[in-house]
Amino acid sequence: QAKESGRNKYSFYTSCVGQRHDEALQLEQALRKALAQQQLEVHYQPKIDLQTGQLHSLEALVRWHDKDLGQVSPERFIAIAETLGLIQQLGQQVLRQVCYQLQAWAELAVPVAVNISAKELADPLFIPQLMQILSETAVDPKLLELEITESCLLPERENQTRHVLQQLRQSGIRLAIDDFGTGYSSLSYLRHLPINSLKIDRSFIKALPDNTSDKQITSAIIAMANALGLDVIAEGVETQAQQEFLLAAGCQYGQGYLFGKATNATTTLQLLRQNL
Ligand code: C2E
Ligand code: MG
Ligand code: MG
Ligand code: MG
Repeated sequence: QAKESGRNKYSFYTSCVGQRHDEALQLEQALRKALAQQQLEVHYQPKIDLQTGQLHSLEALVRWHDKDLGQVSPERFIAIAETLGLIQQLGQQVLRQVCYQLQAWAELAVPVAVNISAKELADPLFIPQLMQILSETAVDPKLLELEITESCLLPERENQTRHVLQQLRQSGIRLAIDDFGTGYSSLSYLRHLPINSLKIDRSFIKALPDNTSDKQITSAIIAMANALGLDVIAEGVETQAQQEFLLAAGCQYGQGYLFGKATNATTTLQLLRQNL
């Protein structure tokens, strides 16, 4: 009896590990193929001017639908791409898709923000390749914003990071700190970076307006951003009450399911037309 269950346990264990290994391998191979065949699709989520309710700009969010795996979450495949050294290739495809979209939407002049991983920013080819895409598509660099997560800004690489960000700013590209509040950037560090806006992390917005400490943190971030002359945008706005709190606290922009999820380029164009 004991032997029996022991053996069962053992075989369950091995098959489980084996299965997990297979799954990771399948995902990895599928991602390589999706990149080789350029199957990733960029969707766009609106950023709203909280005062007027008007669409202000868009955030590009990459989507991957695999015929066997179904829809795979970016949280998952971005991390895999980073581990496998594929993130530069992925990032290039996203930037190229966004810039060709901006070219197609040129008369609408809508700004689009693109998420950039730390590894992309650290690549010496990042700036030249981005400049190549911009000149190839004749996109006004002022319409492009790069979102960089706070954890990307490692203090030990401060000088290198600042240099790269300065070059980007000099070309007219805008810079935002994403998921702000989850990292550890000090005020003085931020003050020395050439950034245009702060995006307050969704985790602080979630429990508004009931949670007292989240209210205090959010108000403090907004006040600080305003004092530093930075635009401030709240992520993950899902309710009217959150919108009202943010507006009263002096937050200019919001993004979240209250205003709309990310949609493909065709649906986004309809949204843009309604807003003009
Ligand atoms: P992020 O840049 O902070 O993007 C915001 C995420 O929150 C998106 O998830 C968006 O769909 C989701 N979101 C927006 N509004 C709401 C809301 O009201 N409620 C909730 N619960 N969620 C909301 P998504 O698209 O799954 O992307 C996850 C993360 O993956 C992004 O976080 C970003 O860090 C990364 N990512 C997405 N696209 C790219 C890309 O092209 N390149 C890179 N390097 N990273 C990307
Ligand atoms: Mg973002
Ligand atoms: Mg974010
Ligand atoms: Mg995030």
